[in-house]
Amino acid sequence: MVDLVVRSRRAVTPAGESPAAIVVSGGRIVAVEPYEAEIPADQQVDLGDTALLPGLVDTHVHVNEPGRTEWEGFASATRAAAAGGVTAIVDMPLNSLPPTVNAEALRIKQKAAAGQIHVDVGFWGGAIPGNAPDLPALHEAGVFGFKAFLADSGVPEFPPVDPAQLATALAAVDAQFVVHAEDPYHLHEAVSSSSYADFLASRPPEAEHAAVATAIEAARAAGARVHILHLSAATALPLIAQAKADGVRVTAETCPHYLTLEAGLIPAGATEFKCCPPIRDSANADLLWAALAEGLITCVVSDHSPCTPELKRQDTGDFAAAWGGIASVQLGLPVIWTAARARGHSLADVVSWMARRPADLVGLTGKGRLAVGADADLVAFEPDATFVVDPQALHHRNPVTPYAGKELQGVVTRTWLRGTAVTGDQPGGRFLSRIPTREDVA
Ligand SMILES: [Zn+2]
Repeated sequence: MVDLVVRSRRAVTPAGESPAAIVVSGGRIVAVEPYEAEIPADQQVDLGDTALLPGLVDTHVHVNEPGRTEWEGFASATRAAAAGGVTAIVDMPLNSLPPTVNAEALRIKQKAAAGQIHVDVGFWGGAIPGNAPDLPALHEAGVFGFKAFLADSGVPEFPPVDPAQLATALAAVDAQFVVHAEDPYHLHEAVSSSSYADFLASRPPEAEHAAVATAIEAARAAGARVHILHLSAATALPLIAQAKADGVRVTAETCPHYLTLEAGLIPAGATEFKCCPPIRDSANADLLWAALAEGLITCVVSDHSPCTPELKRQDTGDFAAAWGGIASVQLGLPVIWTAARARGHSLADVVSWMARRPADLVGLTGKGRLAVGADADLVAFEPDATFVVDPQALHHRNPVTPYAGKELQGVVTRTWLRGTAVTGDQPGGRFLSRIPTREDVA
């Protein structure tokens, strides 16, 4: 007898949305059967018209533990993720102390996370000046690629690198070059101001355009794989399209805030909207949506990057002084679903952008899909239910989010991690590695 059968009239499989029964044994999906099929199991769940999605895979999360755990920690970040329908995250190498720039730092991070993760957690490595000798060992330790900056990262322990040198080093081991694409020569000193427009003017689209061009040329010359993080400026899209056409291995992600928030509507002093690169205008967002629809942008991830209310300078509302980062790991799915359905997209589109494609980006082909052989990471989702975002009700460590008070569509009612319902009592998450320990599904 199998462990669990979950039925839904709206199961989102790689073939699209249809009635199905997902059969789970040993934490994995062992069969996808017709909705009405009789299947003896220890546990039967019938979701009826509630949708069943694969758990989302969020490859851009800053957990910040150890070292800046008061910003966000593994327990709070992964509980928030599970509550938001995310069953796997990949943690960014910076803002924790130490940053994940060598194999020892990765071990320290995993030790900090052990026993308190509610979803599966993988890690990006970091590239900084001087750590080139550490990269092969960190790569072998299972990180999914290496993040680097071309401009100031915001924290002193993670300086920018020379992209050409890094791309060459990463190409040697075929590791992903993962880049925060803002070029310092096009960034201006932000003036102390509570006006969002003043902050926006300090980080023009040219900064992204130039950095995307630099990163692509470095990857092209070295034969490296390059992934453009959190793309905001749509003016850089033609560069990506051309590079792809030329055969350069380039992928790009964007985030819920770039797709759904508008620069012109950000209130004075509302530093919860500050992130880098910045949120731009609605015409820019329309172009990002079009690129997502045609596959030029690969995936949508949160770039969950919280801090304390003090560091957001909520007292003064000074955009120049505030930490740049938006907290949203628990809200990405309803934020995107609300906007996506208004634009005529399906739940299957959202699953593709937020589950299957980010999983594929990091080679986790056994995640992010309701398919035989995949992990039984499942999400019950009521697409038509609505709720108003109450920051105090989020599991994020700090109740600071630009989505506060917004009415969103789509409610996650239950999340299973490898066949076990996530309740918040038993942290059942495991570490994910680039190096598979079992057969991946095709
Ligand atoms: Zn980030």
